[in-house]
Amino acid sequence: MDFGINGKTAIICGASKGLGRACAAALAEEGVKVTLVARTADAVEKAAQEIGRATGTETVAVAADVTTDAGRAAVLAACPEPDILVNNAGGPPPGDWRSFEREDWHKATDANMLSAILLIRDVLPAMQRRKFGRIVNITSAMVKMPHEFLSLSTAARMGLTGFVSGIVPSLAKDGITINSLLPERFDTDRLTSNISKLAERNGISIEEQRAKQEAASPTGRFGRPEEFGATCAFLCSVPAGYISGQNILLDGGSYPGVF
Ligand code: NAP
Repeated sequence: MDFGINGKTAIICGASKGLGRACAAALAEEGVKVTLVARTADAVEKAAQEIGRATGTETVAVAADVTTDAGRAAVLAACPEPDILVNNAGGPPPGDWRSFEREDWHKATDANMLSAILLIRDVLPAMQRRKFGRIVNITSAMVKMPHEFLSLSTAARMGLTGFVSGIVPSLAKDGITINSLLPERFDTDRLTSNISKLAERNGISIEEQRAKQEAASPTGRFGRPEEFGATCAFLCSVPAGYISGQNILLDGGSYPGVF
């Protein structure tokens, strides 16, 4: 299939590792010029270089925190009018919701709701002018299966999800789609860190907790970041132009419901 996005430009937030990096790699494979963003300069530069070498595509690294005004301004200075925007930032910590203070809720909404909304606002005018835009938000399976241990994540991402639902119809005539990808149990550093915290909470070893979680997936394994990246690239493609406003679970078939 021809994705039709060769030569287009993209901003991918949270892209030095994990799911964001996989999205950047998959888009670069399709010939998209990718701007990778993460806070740690060395890591994001290394990721950009590796992807550029592997795909022969132009890559740019921006060391910036997307939760800050200055960080988002630096991202937009590097790639002012992207055809594609992938919103992503680190997930908030898990824990007992009773222990979280106002500051914790603010941090979560800054990272997993407001940074995405503000970047969407800033990239839309050029997309509307060009009559083409693809926006993908990396959220979480917690949007469909909330869990009290991940309350910060659920609450902030639900805010973004509701916001997106509201604006999708008004952008459709301009050829702009916005979809969210809802990962669960992808083998990344974020998963490893959650596993250690759960192991501690459950009083078992990290290896036992890891095996327990793998076994809990109908696939018997964790998701591979490249599977996630491929889905993102498809949603950013020209043939995916009729898919918008969707919240797509990538969970190996774990979700027990129908909708
Ligand atoms: P990860 O491996 O921890 O990678 C996170 C990436 O985002 C890194 O490149 C990190 O680099 C960057 N980042 C974090 N905060 C940032 C900020 N404020 N500004 C710019 N870049 C930032 O995480 P992941 O597993 O790929 O997960 C990606 C998202 O999906 C997270 O929100 C996570 O909670 C969510 N999620 C993942 C899973 C899963 O199965 N992996 C499941 C549910 C939800 P720096 O630290 O250098 O900035």
